[in-house]
Amino acid sequence: MQELKIYNSLTKKKELFKPIIPNHVGLYVCGPTVYSDVHLGNVRTFVSFDVVYRYLKFIGYNVRYVRNITDVGHLLNDADSGEDKIAKQAKLLNLEPMEVVQHYTNGFRDVMSKYNNISPSIEPTATGHIVEQIEMVQEILDEGFAYVSNGSVYFDVEKYNLSHNYGKLSGRKIEDLLSNTRELDGQEEKRNPLDFAIWKKADDSHIMKWNSPWGEGFPGWHLECSVMSTKYLGEKFDIHGGGMDLKFPHHECEIAQNVGAGNGDPVNYWMHGNMLTVNGQKMSKSAGNGFTPEQLATGDHPLLDKGYSEMVVRFFMLQSHYTSTLDFSNEALKGSEKGFEKMLKAYETLKTLVSSKESSVNIDDLKNRCYEAMNDDFNTPILIAHLFDGVKMINNVKDGRDTISGQDLALLNEIFDGFLVNVLGIKIETENNQSVDLSNDIMNMVLEIRNQAKQDKNYQLADEIRNRLTEINITIKDSKEGTSWELN
Ligand code: AMP
Ligand code: ZN
Repeated sequence: MQELKIYNSLTKKKELFKPIIPNHVGLYVCGPTVYSDVHLGNVRTFVSFDVVYRYLKFIGYNVRYVRNITDVGHLLNDADSGEDKIAKQAKLLNLEPMEVVQHYTNGFRDVMSKYNNISPSIEPTATGHIVEQIEMVQEILDEGFAYVSNGSVYFDVEKYNLSHNYGKLSGRKIEDLLSNTRELDGQEEKRNPLDFAIWKKADDSHIMKWNSPWGEGFPGWHLECSVMSTKYLGEKFDIHGGGMDLKFPHHECEIAQNVGAGNGDPVNYWMHGNMLTVNGQKMSKSAGNGFTPEQLATGDHPLLDKGYSEMVVRFFMLQSHYTSTLDFSNEALKGSEKGFEKMLKAYETLKTLVSSKESSVNIDDLKNRCYEAMNDDFNTPILIAHLFDGVKMINNVKDGRDTISGQDLALLNEIFDGFLVNVLGIKIETENNQSVDLSNDIMNMVLEIRNQAKQDKNYQLADEIRNRLTEINITIKDSKEGTSWELN
């Protein structure tokens, strides 16, 4: 197993990764709230964690990846009062809330698959875990860290902070938070403005509500993740991920809830992906600077010069480290598109390379550097830079400036199939891919027949094969290392 280091947002240090159960990893990532189309910023976060999932599997871990779907409890402005985002959309469109949920869940899955993100092992929904959420509210009440007020249940932040550390993840201080609180609706039910709802009473206008020991209501937004992560991964699990914007209050409250329910600190390694920005501003629906993946594919948006394929955009995203902000611009995307095409062309060439007796290139070193990059907190931009060194080697071998042994050629294939296709998740169109492999096999066979003909001094047949291949735009080159071919 490789020595992987992960930047832990909890300790703010890069730490050696040690799973709780050897060879197994529990990974939880906060999923989307399915009340609208996902924008490209959301996609970035899910691509970042897709690579984390892929690499953990690649180095041999057995990973259980849980990513939830938020389909109730996420209120407008991420606050404790106001309308539920999904219920609002349902009223607007005159649909059942579950129709809204289904529609945008389908859309989300469609985008995930276009971006070649692997489906998680479990994709639990908040509405599917109401019973468990009610149980956790009760546990927190039993531990004395929550109180009932007018049919709602609030987490008692001040009391919790007497014996625990509210703010340990986000670094926020209770005093600062208090001085920054605004007077919001619904605050009067709370003992302290910092308290947050773990169960909300539903008034008559609410269409999504369930019976509970405290009357009809619905769960607070942060509760579902506390419940579903530990239900499927255990009270203590390895990695919890999400976008940086979720660190506070969402993840801070998650820790408080799990600890407050008597289950202890839930997560060993917290990972936060940074934001996709447009002209330096976070991409979001409310800022009006968010375009959908579909708009990006077609280029149909005022901010876009043209459309880009999903794999180009994925490549663009992975050319930045997940902890850095990534600013969107047409120029940057065009640069990535060029690099991407060069990489793909080299990948195709790789499948047609012919080996020699000796290598003049060092493939072992390339392989080690690829692992080192990924072991250093999933450093995809460095990995891509190393793969470009591989591209140079491929082109040099193709042009006869370098040679590669059969063993090294197999290793180079292993590196590109492993790191480019498996780890970075760059989809080389299967049709293309299969046809590349197949044409390679067929061409090797044709060249073998031609070589045999030459050995048998049947030059007429050998020349005819060459001429017929030229007619279909395939050039063959004879050199002392052997025979290679290329499409004109
Ligand atoms: P939401 O559906 O708003 O709960 O967000 C789903 C995921 O997308 C969360 O992990 C957010 O942190 C993430 N996210 C939202 N906006 C951005 C952005 N501009 N860049 C990167 N990730 C984002
Ligand atoms: Zn969450």
